[in-house]
Amino acid sequence: MSEKITSKQAIALEDQYGAHNYHPLPVVLSRGKGCRVWDVEGKEYFDFLSAYSAVNQGHCHPKIVGALTEQAQKLTLTSRAFYNDALGVYEKYITEYFGYDKVLPMNSGAEGDETALKLCRKWAYTKKGIPENEAKIIVCANNFHGRTITIISMSTDPDAKNDFGPYTPGFITIPYNDLPALEKALEDPNVAGFLVEPIQGEAGVMVPDEGYLKKAYELCKAKNVLFIADEVQTGIARTGKLLACDHEGVRPDVLILGKALSGGVYPISAVLADDDIMLTIKPGEHGSTFGGNPVAARVAIAALEVVKEEKLAERAERLGKIFRDEMSRFAETSDMVSIVRGKGLLNAVVIQPKNGKTAWDVCLKMAENGLLAKPTHDHIIRFAPPLVISEEELKQAIEIIQKSIRLFE
Ligand code: PLP
Repeated sequence: MSEKITSKQAIALEDQYGAHNYHPLPVVLSRGKGCRVWDVEGKEYFDFLSAYSAVNQGHCHPKIVGALTEQAQKLTLTSRAFYNDALGVYEKYITEYFGYDKVLPMNSGAEGDETALKLCRKWAYTKKGIPENEAKIIVCANNFHGRTITIISMSTDPDAKNDFGPYTPGFITIPYNDLPALEKALEDPNVAGFLVEPIQGEAGVMVPDEGYLKKAYELCKAKNVLFIADEVQTGIARTGKLLACDHEGVRPDVLILGKALSGGVYPISAVLADDDIMLTIKPGEHGSTFGGNPVAARVAIAALEVVKEEKLAERAERLGKIFRDEMSRFAETSDMVSIVRGKGLLNAVVIQPKNGKTAWDVCLKMAENGLLAKPTHDHIIRFAPPLVISEEELKQAIEIIQKSIRLFE
């Protein structure tokens, strides 16, 4: 049995022995179920972050945890030096689920993005005929694709980037949601890919104009450039469709998934593409000790089954509308809430500071009142509960959010 500690002790331990690369809300969680979590003192909260959309299926979903524990007692890791009896089954399942020829399994979202970048470059040289080391990939300002050196090389966020150079070359940055800028950047014949988040989650749930993704895809096609969608945060039912690209009927050439691919119980990511792209990478050219391990394979199948069985995309679509309607109505009479935006159950509220009180203070107040959310970029609060939340629970949660904001007005 692990020793029971208080919130204060847990925070002090992290502060003393952990690197200070995060600034968490002062809440210490020890249990979760569905859309709720409990702290070590037993206080209950609605979770409106869902581990940055990894826990779409709800905390400790019995089917997913069941798949994890069952497989964990049989075989956990072989590496890819040998075959295992779960990986192929998973590969068939996920490729049919999303409609691609092949999958390349990895672990974190950042690894998924790195894999997609390597795949794009490999395709550029072996298929498109771009001269060696000349390939470029277009990315968007205010993107978030993870934390590796190459990924932060594509970032425009000084916190993510500064003092971590020298940076990886080969990227062209254009503004998000700007088709003329994309069209112009695509004139460079050495462009191999366009990497884009269908909605920019970390940037503050920036939803592009309707038609942006579709037109961007068409522009890429006209120049034989790969359209690479980072759906690590937006994918797997979060925005009201299985993929956020589905809202515009766009099928990315390269699709990156992570987070909810495991329902939050295990780090699992994946890159999906068709043979003409995926088979450009040959044995020995890319890999991961843990990627595609049997536990991950079984967990991902269970997590994806839950999404279909519990119709999570439809729930996100319906409940998201209720959330935005209620919060937009609230915004009309609120001095603090200026903008409400989002799709499905990936939403954000822009907070105008009032009497020195900011989005951080609102989050502290909401926690006090039993709801957890985290500011992104100082003045934006993202609201993304597990998709299994009921309509009644959502309404209770909205009441907590509104009550907490009102206390500052
Ligand atoms: N891509 C997107 C769009 C993300 O939102 C994130 C994480 O928030 C990542 C990639 C990185 O995922 P991970 O933290 O698992 O490396």
